[in-house]
Amino acid sequence: MPHDPGTVKLVGAGPGAADLLTLRAARAIESAQALLYDALVCDEVVALAPAACLKIQTGKRAGRTSMKQETINRLMLRLARRGLRVVRLKGGDPSVFGRVGEEQAFLNAHGISTEVVPGVTAASAAAAQFGFPLTYRGQARRLVFATATTRDGALAETGWAADREATLALYMGRDQLSALAARLIAEGRSPHTPVMAVENAGRADARAMPGRLGALGQALAAAGCEGPVVVVVGEAAAQAPAFLNAEPALIEARS
Ligand code: SAH
Repeated sequence: MPHDPGTVKLVGAGPGAADLLTLRAARAIESAQALLYDALVCDEVVALAPAACLKIQTGKRAGRTSMKQETINRLMLRLARRGLRVVRLKGGDPSVFGRVGEEQAFLNAHGISTEVVPGVTAASAAAAQFGFPLTYRGQARRLVFATATTRDGALAETGWAADREATLALYMGRDQLSALAARLIAEGRSPHTPVMAVENAGRADARAMPGRLGALGQALAAAGCEGPVVVVVGEAAAQAPAFLNAEPALIEARS
């Protein structure tokens, strides 16, 4: 689809490997005149933009601070009003914890048209790479995308945790997984529920940490993750070869 000048494309960059981009995403990046990208977007993907494209990193990486959402919104607006083909590039799928709704609403309210290009979300990349499904007939009938934290950083009450037939794909929870696991168990999910925590899903340096919900916090603390981690909780996770090969107690993290 051609990119009209003065519009903004909100594009999913996938989990961090350029060959997991959609063709539509790759074409949008290749024809961008201004690119605003998040910290989770890999260099290989940013490198697809033309040399003359204005490239602006909006997320924090290597100690730099992130731009405020308001600043990002204003910047996109200014660039689009200059008549540039603006691409707002986000890790994974822009519609999964990507603030795409907020950015779209802001731009549209200021008369700028937008288009969303989907991407491979972290949970899908993790499942594909480590050999387990997110749904499974008769066993995992629902999939919940959830985050551990709320806007003010507090642990949210779930209300859905006890559903044994739901696979939970937990985003943005790396640093409070012990508390989150305790919450899920308190709300009725069994501590024996299989878990696959995956760091850097979709990338060459991805690591899987199989375990059980009751030991999730310890397993992750032992693994010392520094990259982004998506945690998949539910019976379907038990189909991963890494899970099947782990010790029965599954207390220790594995790479
Ligand atoms: N829009 C993104 C999610 C953004 S929220 C998507 O669809 O994937 C940021 C969170 O996503 C991280 O805290 C982490 O939980 C998860 N995440 C993003 N990329 C990841 C990756 N490559 N591996 C594991 N988790 C990832």
